[in-house]
Amino acid sequence: MKAGRRARQDEAGVDSVGPEVDDIPSQAEAEIRAFLDDSGPPSALGREELEAMAAPRLITEIPGPRTRALIEADHKVTSPSLPRAYPFAPARGAGSMIEDVDGNVFLDFNAGIAVCSTGHAHPKVVRAIEEQAERLLHYSGGDFYLPIYAEVCAELDRITDVGGPARTFLTNSGTEAVEAAIKLARNSTGRQYLLAFIGGFHGRSYGSVSLTASKAKYHAGFGPLLPGVLHAPFGVSISEFIEPVIFKRLVPPDEVAAVVVEPIQGEGGYVVPPDGWLADLREMCSAHGILLIADEIQSGMGRTGRMWAYEHEGITPDIVLGGKGIASGMPLGAMIARHDVMTWDRGAHGSTYAGNPVCCAAALATIGLLESELIENAADVGPSLMESLGRLQAREPLIRDIRGRGMMIGVDFEDGETADAVEMACLRRGLLVLRAGDSAVRIAPPLVLRHDQARVGVRIFEEACAEVAGTS
Ligand code: PLP
Repeated sequence: MKAGRRARQDEAGVDSVGPEVDDIPSQAEAEIRAFLDDSGPPSALGREELEAMAAPRLITEIPGPRTRALIEADHKVTSPSLPRAYPFAPARGAGSMIEDVDGNVFLDFNAGIAVCSTGHAHPKVVRAIEEQAERLLHYSGGDFYLPIYAEVCAELDRITDVGGPARTFLTNSGTEAVEAAIKLARNSTGRQYLLAFIGGFHGRSYGSVSLTASKAKYHAGFGPLLPGVLHAPFGVSISEFIEPVIFKRLVPPDEVAAVVVEPIQGEGGYVVPPDGWLADLREMCSAHGILLIADEIQSGMGRTGRMWAYEHEGITPDIVLGGKGIASGMPLGAMIARHDVMTWDRGAHGSTYAGNPVCCAAALATIGLLESELIENAADVGPSLMESLGRLQAREPLIRDIRGRGMMIGVDFEDGETADAVEMACLRRGLLVLRAGDSAVRIAPPLVLRHDQARVGVRIFEEACAEVAGTS
C-alpha cells in the first residue's frame, strides 16, 4: 500500500480509503464544503414535535447516505486518534431526541456521553447563552474580575458539601479539573504520591491519564507517565489492599497527597462500589491527612438522582471535580475545594478561557433546571428504567448484571463482543447507547427523559438483545 493510501473501516463497515497525500486538503475541503452547503434542516419536524417524540423514526438505512459521505470526508482531515464509537452524525436535538444528518430521529440514551444533562438545546439554556453572548463573549476570568465567574463559583459552593466553605477553580474540561486537583493536592499537602483505582477514568492529559487505569491503550506509546501515581483495586476493602500493600510495601501514608476516586466508575463500566467503601476511604484519608478527591465529572450534576453521587454515601470529600453535565454541553469544568485546602499562592494556576462567560451562563441555567426539576426527574425515571431493565435481565440470559444509580445505569454482558453487538443492534433500531468497561453498555440519558421514552428504550434494548442472542 502506498504511503498516504490507508484503508480504514469503522464499526459499521464504512470504508474510507485515503487519497494521495497531495490531494487531501483541497479534496476534503471541497467535499466538506459541498456537504455543509447542502445541509438545510434535516427534516421538517419542529423543535417541539421532535422533543415530544418517544420512539425513534428512521427513514434511511443506518448509517444513511449523508452520514456515510460525511464519515468519508471526515476521515481525511480529522485526527485518527479520535475514538469514534460508531457511525452516528448528529445534526440537531430537542430533549431526549436527536436527529442525524439524514433526518433519522434517534432516542438518545447517551446525552453526548453524560453531558447534555438538561436535554438537547433546552430553551432556557439556549436563551441564557444567547443573552450572555450578546453582552460579553470573553474576558479572561483568571486575570480580571468577571462577575459571572464568581457567581458560578458561589453557586458551586452552595450546592457542594466539602465540609466547610468552598472556593472554586473553573476549567474548560474535565481533564483540566483533574490536572488542577493534582497540582493543588501536591501544593497544599507538600506530599507527592497520588492513589487512584483500577478501572478508573480521569482524562487523557498527562496527569489525568496517569491516574486513569481503565484501558492500557490510554497509556500505550505515551510513557513515561506522571511519577508518583499508585493504583489500588476499586471497591476492595482498605484492610485487604491499601493498608497491607500500598502503605506497608510501597509508600508510607504520610507521603500520600490524595486519593482520587470516582464515586461510581464511569468509563470503567458504570461500577458502583460496595456500600460503606467510600466511607471507609474517607476515614482512612482523614486518619492519615490524605485529601479525598471525588471525581464527579461523569457521575455528578444530578445524574444519579442527587447533585453529586458521593451524597448517596453520606461522605464529604475535600475536593470535588465537576464537568460534563455542568453546563449542558458548553465546555466547563470545576474544581471545588474547602478553603483550608485551596491555599495555593496567587499566580500558581490559571487559564485564559476557563470560566468563559457564555459557559458560565449555561452553567447557571443548568444548575437552576437541575434543582427545580431535573434531579427529581432523574430520581424518578432512572430507578423505574433500572427496574424495567432488571425485569428484562430475568428474561434475557445474555444480560449478566444491571447496576447504577438514577440515570447512570450499566448493563453488563458476558463479554465485550456481546456488548458491542448490542450497542450496534440498538443503533440500527434508533437507540443510542455506549460501551463502557470490559463488557458493559452504559445508559446515561439526558435528565429530561420521560417515562414513555424510557419504556420505548427498554423495548428496543430487548429487541437488540434478542437479535444478538439469535432469539428474535
Ligand atoms: N473524569 C471522568 C470521571 C470522566 O468520565 C471524564 C471523561 O469522560 C474525565 C474525567 C475527563 O473529562 P474531559 O473529557 O472533559 O476531559
